[in-house]
Amino acid sequence: MKKWRVTGVDPSFELDIERVIGLFFPKAKVNPAGEEETDGFLDFVVREEGGQIIVSVTLNVLGRKDQTWVATDQKETIMSGTPKEIQRRVKHVIKHALLQVLEKATGTRQPWGILTGVRPTKLYHGMMFDQVPVEEAKRVLKQDYALLPDKVDLLDEIVQRQTTVLPDLYQLDQEVSLYIGIPFCPTKCAYCTFPAYAIQGRNGSVEEFLKGLHEEITAVGEWLHRHDRRVTTIYFGGGTPTSITADQLEALFLEIKQSIPNYDLVRELTVEAGRPDTLDVEKLALLKRWKVDRISINPQSFEESTLKLIGRHHTVRETLDKFYLAREMGLHNINMDLIIGLPNEGLDRFRQSLRVMEELRPESLTVHTLSFKRGSHMTRNPDKYRVAEGEEIAQMVQEARAWTRNQGYVPYYLYRQKNILGNQENVGYAFPGEESLYNISIMEERQTIIGLGCGAVSKIIPPGGGRLNRWPNPKEPQAYIDTVQEQTIKKLKALDQAYGTIHS
Ligand code: SF4
Repeated sequence: MKKWRVTGVDPSFELDIERVIGLFFPKAKVNPAGEEETDGFLDFVVREEGGQIIVSVTLNVLGRKDQTWVATDQKETIMSGTPKEIQRRVKHVIKHALLQVLEKATGTRQPWGILTGVRPTKLYHGMMFDQVPVEEAKRVLKQDYALLPDKVDLLDEIVQRQTTVLPDLYQLDQEVSLYIGIPFCPTKCAYCTFPAYAIQGRNGSVEEFLKGLHEEITAVGEWLHRHDRRVTTIYFGGGTPTSITADQLEALFLEIKQSIPNYDLVRELTVEAGRPDTLDVEKLALLKRWKVDRISINPQSFEESTLKLIGRHHTVRETLDKFYLAREMGLHNINMDLIIGLPNEGLDRFRQSLRVMEELRPESLTVHTLSFKRGSHMTRNPDKYRVAEGEEIAQMVQEARAWTRNQGYVPYYLYRQKNILGNQENVGYAFPGEESLYNISIMEERQTIIGLGCGAVSKIIPPGGGRLNRWPNPKEPQAYIDTVQEQTIKKLKALDQAYGTIHS
């Protein structure tokens, strides 16, 4: 069901219609130019009656004679307001009616209703910020956005948790956080679209990259001093930051400590050490010495054949050994990632992974659902990888939730991605008090995150409110090396614009 002919609505709604159809048929295109052939028709009738907008939609699947579905939807007293507001409401009703008809036709329920392109927790926070009562916020999510009740409960739990661990979340715009991207990994995983280059590869030398990164840290540090801005959290991601040597890592820690104001007041320092094959005694001792608050050692799965298939190039044994080594060396908050829906993995294998987790009991556990990202090896070679279907995926997601609750974890952040299996979500769980503040900050977009290094995207949010400005650094090490100076100057100018220019 790829090509859809849509009639009866303004063409400006087509993208939103395509997104809703895409929840059911991921590669759907609406009214593709020059395409005569069509798999399905959607006829909309939008009319106003007694202060209401009434939308009816008829779905007709070609080639299947008796398969016509009809849904009608309406909204009360909504013809008042600016043309933009009316347009927004009409769009909402169109999406709602479309969802109903597609659910009827396919017999599937969408866990996140018509929510596409919006972060669910952000929407909920927005309502909390506007002091909408909790029960009303929940009603809006269930009725207006058609979320399933368990997703609404999950959102509520997460948002309450976030405001408990970060009581000043809505005032965090007075500070900034830093993200530092180290774009190297031992090898590239099959599902990966991060800026991750083989450390032995030919894309830019590690030394030159680090030289540029040191310069960028110094320049951002000067900016922070000039603007008297405190840093909330620092996060090393990538790639795998622990791919570089202990000496190189230490030099970066030192540079940061010397460059940023009030280093001792930084609330959290995280280093992703996702690939166990990058960890050794020397690096773990370094992380401990520098009082790193949180590291990640990511199994993804505890099934050997899966790790091979997805190109992780480390064994299950290696993950366990490095986890226990980190524990022995006194590293405390260890996060582990699991991915639901990896190739050839169903409920049984996922349960097996949870059983291993029960023995390890890391302080944080992030449960991802596999998404087919554009450009990954897996997406380019779909025939090579067999993955579970929507219902089984939903079951695994539910089991993860029930299991974490039984084990004493709480959910504290959530995000969704395009082409995620079963239209589910990724959820960060932690034991109470072990939540990653950076993860909350980056997801909820309540403060500026300055991105340094490869592939790091700065999200500049003016203090006191205003439009978010995204500022991406180059993804490739060589491009970063070639342009770091001019890019840094431009980025600092963009920061000046948001924070006001201060002459030194
Ligand atoms: S370890 Fe992470 S960043 Fe590196 S290749 Fe694998 S998924 Fe990508």
